[in-house]
Amino acid sequence: MAIIASVSGVRGIIGTDLTPQAAVQFGSSFGTWLGGGKVVVGGDTRPSGQMLRQAVEAGLLACGCDVVDLGIVSTPGAALMVKELAARGGVVITASHNPPEYNGIKFLTDQGWAPPPAEADKIFAIYASKVFRYKDSLHCGGFTEDDSTHQRHIDAVMRIVDVDRIRSGRFRVVLDAINGAGSIATPVLFEKFQCDATLMNCEPTGLFPHEPEPIEKNLQGLCAKVKEVGADIGFAQDPDADRLVIVDENGRFIGEEYTLALAVWQVLKTRRGPVATNLSTSRLVDAVTQKFGVPVVRTPVGEANVAAAMFAHKCPIGGEGNGGVIDPRVVAVRNSLIGIGHILQLLAEEDAPLSKLVASLPAYAMIKRKAPLRRECLASVYNALKQHFAAGQFNESDGLRIDLPQGWLHIRPSNTEPIVRIISEATDAGAANCLADAAEEVLQRVCAA
Ligand code: MG
Repeated sequence: MAIIASVSGVRGIIGTDLTPQAAVQFGSSFGTWLGGGKVVVGGDTRPSGQMLRQAVEAGLLACGCDVVDLGIVSTPGAALMVKELAARGGVVITASHNPPEYNGIKFLTDQGWAPPPAEADKIFAIYASKVFRYKDSLHCGGFTEDDSTHQRHIDAVMRIVDVDRIRSGRFRVVLDAINGAGSIATPVLFEKFQCDATLMNCEPTGLFPHEPEPIEKNLQGLCAKVKEVGADIGFAQDPDADRLVIVDENGRFIGEEYTLALAVWQVLKTRRGPVATNLSTSRLVDAVTQKFGVPVVRTPVGEANVAAAMFAHKCPIGGEGNGGVIDPRVVAVRNSLIGIGHILQLLAEEDAPLSKLVASLPAYAMIKRKAPLRRECLASVYNALKQHFAAGQFNESDGLRIDLPQGWLHIRPSNTEPIVRIISEATDAGAANCLADAAEEVLQRVCAA
């Protein structure tokens, strides 16, 4: 293994790959790229976070950046602080939903979101060159600490949602924060909303009681607890609290794709405008936007792409189907806290159990597969797929997405391995599998030729 670098930052295994030396150099690379200025630095609860944070900060300080240390904060919290403190950039120490042996370093621009790919490449080129613009003794950066992130984040959410309306619902909720960064601010938000909250895994220790990715197989404890206490809704966050998934009042994991759809529903009630999401996100979003007569803008995968499209199209809401709700009034990154606010307000205003709101939306099944594919075969595979699905609508801004009346397919090459991801969605699993099977057959036929 080695350090994995992508547009969303770097990650690696602590103790072998992501060493303090590497972290100092990544901090120095980012500091060199920024050329000084104020930089906020925070991170999730992983036990290796303090080590990485201080190493990154040393690199930044050496390049003349003024570091504001935020301590343990969520990714959306850190992004919010870039804006609140008018910083030139930010760094979040997190490996998001990856297993406990990992940690990572995520860079944020002065907008609070990830640098665009061309700029990320420049930062990695500086890292590779090891040519850093270190300052002399008198011009190293200054260091301060700021512990106001959580309060500011809660305030920002409360300014946007109708707090009285949410309070009127007298909701009983369960939260599984995976002992991550959401453990600190989220319970306080529930207090403000006067929810009767049952807290699971809400100690900010970074010791994960189950696998950290918020998917069904990892959230059986949450599902059982929702039933046990008779809650209206269950929420789960990933360790850096940007993603949010929900469980209905029957303890049923309803799938991560519903988080964005329900938040979009709530926001469009009062603020009409296009909704941006990526090409791999469910048609559930389209089902909601059609009710309000607004278009969906589909972007390449990657949070920064969605954020950029939201900015360009003045979207009131957007995000990703993996439980990532982006409300740019807080900050243009995925944000579980604003997701919680919008969904609780929706429950209050619609005055119906969550299962009923979910049942009012069309049901879709999504299939995700991987298949081996050499890069040089890609163009001919795309051509063959377009011939095979000739009735479809095609989007080639990131791999190939094919929209058909009965569903859609998204074929996307991996950046790191000779494989493609095949995602399909249709009204039931049989039909979705049919689409994926057809794509795989085309792939094998073309590759074998
Ligand atoms: Mg995350």
